[in-house]
Formats: sequence, C-alpha cells, structure tokens
Amino acid sequence: MVAAYDLAQVEASVATDDQRPWRVSLHGGHSREFSAHASSTLTELLETAVERGMVTYGITDHAPISDVRFLYPDEVAAGLDLDSRFAQFEAYAQASRDAVDAFAGRIEVLRGFEAEVLPAASYVADMRRLREQHSFDYAVGSVHWVDETPIDLSAELFAELAARLGGIEALLVRYYASVAEMVERLRPEVVGHFDLPRLYSADHAAHDANAVRTAAEDALRVIAEVGSLVEVNTAGYRKGLGGPYPAPWMVERASELGIAFTFGDDSHHVDHVAANLERARAYLLAYGVRNISTLTREAGAVVRAEVAL
Ligand SMILES: [Zn+2]
Ligand SMILES: [Zn+2]
Repeated sequence: MVAAYDLAQVEASVATDDQRPWRVSLHGGHSREFSAHASSTLTELLETAVERGMVTYGITDHAPISDVRFLYPDEVAAGLDLDSRFAQFEAYAQASRDAVDAFAGRIEVLRGFEAEVLPAASYVADMRRLREQHSFDYAVGSVHWVDETPIDLSAELFAELAARLGGIEALLVRYYASVAEMVERLRPEVVGHFDLPRLYSADHAAHDANAVRTAAEDALRVIAEVGSLVEVNTAGYRKGLGGPYPAPWMVERASELGIAFTFGDDSHHVDHVAANLERARAYLLAYGVRNISTLTREAGAVVRAEVAL
C-alpha cells in the first residue's frame, strides 16, 4: 500500500503551538514513587503534561506480579519483596485517585495500570482483582515476558531467550501468540507497544517471516474482535527504532481490520512526556489514519471518544 502522504512533508507541516484534541496519552506516567526504573515523580510528570498542552493523560503504572520469581532486578535492588511491591501498587492506586482531583480543570487524568501476563496460571484473575479492587478506569495490556523471561530489559536476556527458543523467529511467534491470548482473556482497553520485541531485534529479517506475520495478524484480528485500541507508542523514537511501535505494515493492517489507534508516550521521566507526539501524529496520517480514539470521563463514567488528527 502506498502511503497517503509524504511522511517528511506531513511532519514539517504539523502545528505544535496550540492545544489539539489529539494531544492525549493513554500509556505512561510511570513514576519513581511506584516504579523502581522510573525517575520523575508523578506530580512532575503531570505538571509537564499540562505544560505541554496534553488534553488527557492516562497514568498506567506497572501492575505487580504475584510470584517472587518474577520480581524485576531493579525491584529486588530497591529492596522490594512481594508484600512491599503490592503495597507500593496500592499507594499508586490512591495517588492516581488524588491526581484526578488535584489536576481537575487543568488536564484530564485517567487512572489505569499496565497489566502483566505472569504467572501464566493466575495472571487473568490477578489482573482482574487489581482492577476491581482499585476501581481503575482502564487497563493497558502489555506482554513484557516470553517463556518467563523479560524481553525488554537487556539485549543479552533477549538473545539468551531467542537461543533457548530456537531463534528470533520462534520468539516472535510466541510473543504474538501471547499478545493474542492476553487480549482475548484480559480484554484491555489499550494494547501496549504491540511489536515490543523490535526493541532488541529492530531490523532482524525474522520480523518479515511468514510465520511471524501470520502470528501478528492473528493477534490483530483478536484485537479487532475485542475492540481494544492499539497505542502508537512514542518510546520507539527515544529507543532509536526510527519510529514508534507498531511498524508501518501493522498500522495499515490494523486499519484494514477496523482497529482504532490511540497515543502513548510511555513516560518514565519528564523528558518523555508528550515527546515525539507530533511525529507520531504525522506517522499515522502518513499511513492513512485520520482519527484516533481516546478515553474520557463523561457523567462519572469513562467512555471512548473519537478525535480527528
Ligand atoms: Zn516501565
Ligand atoms: Zn510496557
């Protein structure tokens, strides 16, 4: 498919100086109080979102995983155990509530969390329980682990995992199968960084293998059925991937399937807040997408709304 616009031309013509309804992020606001690997406070992140003209900012800190074997190395280094990790998440849930009120009238803050897919036997029940217990507005469904190994922590772990599974192609097929299963079972409002394994395998030929494309398309079909939004995640720019997640062919295929997009800056520091949002908008326009969807509070409920790009 030929891109509808020239990407560079669209990027050059995008206005950046005023507030636009598409200035939303439904994935980010990871803060240092509640994520060991984040480095700004929640208040700093939200103040920056206000300064940068964001209309809606969904904060989605990481859900805890209920098995000590899957504590992240930075959590262990921070002295966390399962109890304190869950207490930290509970504090996040309360802080997110407070933030909605504290920023009312300046920016619409939505309360979400980023779900995990471990432990395999209990994550569906675990994530549902967290969601209900804390009355979150929505969830971002993400797959950060394949075969009980994190895929976005280091190139070494990624390479070890690929070797164990028989290569990058096999890893990617398993990853997309896990995304499909997660979406079917958790039914998240937003699917996070759909092609995350690109982080440590950006240009690898395995991404174009038939089996991988088929697995990714199967996952997109499940997303279309469930009706989740796919985020255009701008972390791809800052990680040096040359564009956001997901890749262009996935944007085109998702559009054909009727999937709606939203934006996520996946912020873990104030520098990430709203970064490259204009470029992500141009990216969508270049691949023929004219609207995104967002979530918004209406008469006390959080509903979906479509806004023009
Ligand atoms: Zn994070
Ligand atoms: Zn993530």
